Amino acid sequence: MTASKERHGSRIANAIIIPMFAVVLIAVAITFGLLIWSAHISDQAAEKSQRQLLNGTLQLTRDQFARQQASVLVKDPIYYITTGPIYDTAWLYHNVALWLKQRYGFSRTILLDQDRKARFVDGPNVYEKWVTRDLLDRLDPAVETVQKRYLASLKALPSGLYYFDPDYRINEHNLSETGLVSIKGNIYLFSATAITPELVKLVSQREPPAMLISFKQLNGELLAEIGRISALEGLVLDSYPAPETSGPLIDLEAPDGHSIGRIHWQAEQPGQEMQTRIAPVLTVLALALVGLSIVVMTFIRQSTRHLASSRADAVRASLHDPLSGLPNRRQFKQLLDRTMNDTQIADKGAAVLYFDLDRFKDINDTLGHAAGDHVICAIAERLQRILPENAIVARISGDEFALLLPDCPNETQAERFMRRLQDMMVQPVSFGPDEIHVTVSMGAALAPRDGLAAEDLLRKADIALYDAKSNGRNRWSFFEPSMQEHVRTKDEIARELRKAIDEDLLDVAYQPQCDSRSGRIVAIEALARWNRRNTGPVPPSSFIPVAEETGLINDLGLWILRRACQDAQCWPDLVVSVNVSPTQFKHPGFVEKVSATLEEFAFDPGRLEIEVTETVFAGRDKKALQSLRRLKDLGIKVALDDFGSGYSSLSYLRHFPFDTLKIDRDFISAMTDSPEARAIVRTIIRLGQALGMTIVAEGIEEKQQAEYLAANGCHRLQGYFLSHPLPAKDLDEFLADHEIQMEMKHQSLEVERLRSAEY
Ligand code: C2E
Ligand code: CA
Ligand code: CA
Repeated sequence: MTASKERHGSRIANAIIIPMFAVVLIAVAITFGLLIWSAHISDQAAEKSQRQLLNGTLQLTRDQFARQQASVLVKDPIYYITTGPIYDTAWLYHNVALWLKQRYGFSRTILLDQDRKARFVDGPNVYEKWVTRDLLDRLDPAVETVQKRYLASLKALPSGLYYFDPDYRINEHNLSETGLVSIKGNIYLFSATAITPELVKLVSQREPPAMLISFKQLNGELLAEIGRISALEGLVLDSYPAPETSGPLIDLEAPDGHSIGRIHWQAEQPGQEMQTRIAPVLTVLALALVGLSIVVMTFIRQSTRHLASSRADAVRASLHDPLSGLPNRRQFKQLLDRTMNDTQIADKGAAVLYFDLDRFKDINDTLGHAAGDHVICAIAERLQRILPENAIVARISGDEFALLLPDCPNETQAERFMRRLQDMMVQPVSFGPDEIHVTVSMGAALAPRDGLAAEDLLRKADIALYDAKSNGRNRWSFFEPSMQEHVRTKDEIARELRKAIDEDLLDVAYQPQCDSRSGRIVAIEALARWNRRNTGPVPPSSFIPVAEETGLINDLGLWILRRACQDAQCWPDLVVSVNVSPTQFKHPGFVEKVSATLEEFAFDPGRLEIEVTETVFAGRDKKALQSLRRLKDLGIKVALDDFGSGYSSLSYLRHFPFDTLKIDRDFISAMTDSPEARAIVRTIIRLGQALGMTIVAEGIEEKQQAEYLAANGCHRLQGYFLSHPLPAKDLDEFLADHEIQMEMKHQSLEVERLRSAEY
């Protein structure tokens, strides 16, 4: 992975992962926050209710205290003694103070007379120092309140007397006040109660009542009791000044509002408890979540990196040819568009070249695709070497390349480059032990002469290339407007050819072959002809490759065979040669269709000769060879066409028992000037003879060639010297003429023989 791809991948990954990770962390933090908050809230609520409970319990204790005190006090003797002139202190002590102490544990007692003077404390003759003016002052608010209530309860009668009704107390009018007070550093509960008559009482004046104030120390025992009632643990009482504590507490106040102490306790903290229980589980869950997120994020990170990298690869792949590494058609088109948009192009000019390798299909077919690929790569590499600066080369398809030459104002300049390109091809491409010779055909279009639109220039360069190929190979053509009428793109050819096959617009020409010794016509080769509407004849070298590429050759080949069998019924003594492309052998049912055709026309299989080129052996597919064997089993003859033109012809003779060998036209034409060519031809003939094959020489244009071949034992001769390929109707005439000529030749020879015998 390159650094930039990695960076790009990381950027995308971070854009997803960082927010995601933040969300996870925030979620975890919120969960914990909520836990802590809810624990706090519930602790606060618990504390509040505990405080309420404790306050309630204290109030209850005070109320009980007051009731206990009242139960002793509301007795007439006490009232009379405390309001009368004689204070029976001993009686009071025994019946009140001691009683309260023993019965209810009230440890101290003060009796205040109607003038609020302390008349006795705890017992007779006991006047302890704890009763201070200060204490009495602090109790005063409570005392005064009760006294006021009492006075208010006295109802005035018309007689001027006042009336006290004990029911007043029963009706919930409190004639006692409770509270807390500090005595010598200890905190006491006190209850101050008005001493009232037991029964209804009339008094002459509104006089305040005497008061009994009882005290009970808020000690450990009482605190424990309060704790038990309020169900709170660990109650602790502190008198002021008290040390610092944390936790809940309630303030204890004297009647005058002063703080005198506090009670604090161990708060129950349900929230805290819940928190300690839930927190570990939540922590584990959070860790698991974070762990899972990390795993997911790592995965996302890797995936996005991969994605980014494969996206970059895909972008590259979409713009480049994987084999040669050159830009592909798409990118070439984009670059061309860009160049053509340059405003200076009209001044500087540019050339668009289209070129392809001649006979590339043969290289693929005979030496295999690895060889083809190797050649493409080698050519691509060579091209880069001779490419002018800022020129662009691209592989458009199979063996087609396109070139953009900027700053190329005229044909001369473009030709200079094309010549260099041709020179570059002279050096064969080595592939293992093989030396592959490659030539190229080129087509060129010039901007602005032929246009400024990229698409248009490409099409015109393609047309020019097609023209170069049609006029022989290893050459170039510049686009000319007139070419457009003759030249069509491959797609157009395929479309029209399909139509021509369907509408019977094809034709067959027959080229005769004569026996080299008798001179008699013994065979004819059927050759496809297509006279295209409007534009005239199209050479087979143009449309056969297109038919092979598009698969149309299957229908076309069978059409030719049918027509040849039909026509040849008129020439029962002639062998009929039909060309069959390798693709046809691989087509399912080919052999059956051939045999059905022969049956249909009652055509003797021995008269049919199938011509194949060595490309039929290409590839690992043995199907073609099997089909050939089956054809031979039917009695059909098989000829090896263009022998010597390929790459490893000799070896094929061992692969299959051919009946006929056709020497390639190139050897025949070269024979006139080249002794080597003559030697090769002689060798081929001898080889064929040795293998028991019929040898045919094609492309014979001169009499000497025919004589040389005949003298060297070639069996059949074919070529323009004898006849061009002829339409069926002309062949009849030709055959008749030829027969007459032969007859005349035979007779003149006979006359000559007789003459020489006479003399
Ligand atoms: P081929 O099978 O080698 O056919 C012989 C070619 O040589 C024919 O070209 C013929 O017109 C030409 N020829 C014959 N005598 C001479 C001569 O003396 N001098 C010169 N220069 N040429 C001569 P044609 O008809 O243009 O066919 C070209 C090729 O197209 C054929 O080469 C064959 O490979 C292919 N072809 C033609 N018809 C068919 C067909 O029906 N099926 C298939 N599969 N291929 C066909
Ligand atoms: Ca042929
Ligand atoms: Ca041939």
